[in-house]
Amino acid sequence: MKKEQRIVIKTPEEIQVMREAGQILARIIEELKCSLKPGMTTADIDALTEKLITESGVVPAFKGYRGFPGCACVSVNEEVVHGIPGSRVIKDGDIVSIDVGIIYKDFYSDTAYTIPVGKVAPKIQKLLDVTRNSLQRGIDKACVNNKLSDVSHAIQKYIEKHGLAVVREFVGHGIGRNLHEDPEIPNFGPPHKGPVLKEGMVFAIEPMVNTGRRETKILDDGWTVATQDGKPSAHFEHTVAITANGPEILTKC
Ligand code: MG
Repeated sequence: MKKEQRIVIKTPEEIQVMREAGQILARIIEELKCSLKPGMTTADIDALTEKLITESGVVPAFKGYRGFPGCACVSVNEEVVHGIPGSRVIKDGDIVSIDVGIIYKDFYSDTAYTIPVGKVAPKIQKLLDVTRNSLQRGIDKACVNNKLSDVSHAIQKYIEKHGLAVVREFVGHGIGRNLHEDPEIPNFGPPHKGPVLKEGMVFAIEPMVNTGRRETKILDDGWTVATQDGKPSAHFEHTVAITANGPEILTKC
């Protein structure tokens, strides 16, 4: 984690804009979740994402970001995150991680789900359940006066309790007028460290969990991150505001 954290505090008016952005994004991802079918390519999923974003009157946050070519990151099975949409065909029993970001009234929103296609093996269902639940455990700690690493620690503890592995090389982040703001939010670490959480902070919390070993590699396309051992991985993400009443999931469906 970087030493100097410059965490931008959002005003209630800015949070309201981010709430609206989150609701638009939640509808887009919900539509994507319902549309996934065997036989689609990851490029088909990206094309549908672009259509839904355009129809919603918002701007894709990822397209062109540091040269990324898609509106969605689409990562299948052993791919962890940052999958470039292309010719890979989705098969029955696959899991597909879809990560989408939008810009609405100058604010970013970011969410990701790993979606089972058809019937998946029990071990894969466990991976999805543990990853989704670990995100919720982290969100539950995103409260005023907790410390940042309380979020990280809760995520790691839950995942490792279930015998799965936490990816270390990629982390969550602050979000607002920029896609990636301080602080970095690792999905691991000891509790009670880092900055004190305050009302008006907004975080994209995003555990990435592997069924095998935790190590990852970047494929030759320069973007797609996959597990080194080729075993499946899952990724769930929400944009979350810290409010006086506790954490608020802005991208909740
Ligand atoms: Mg993110």
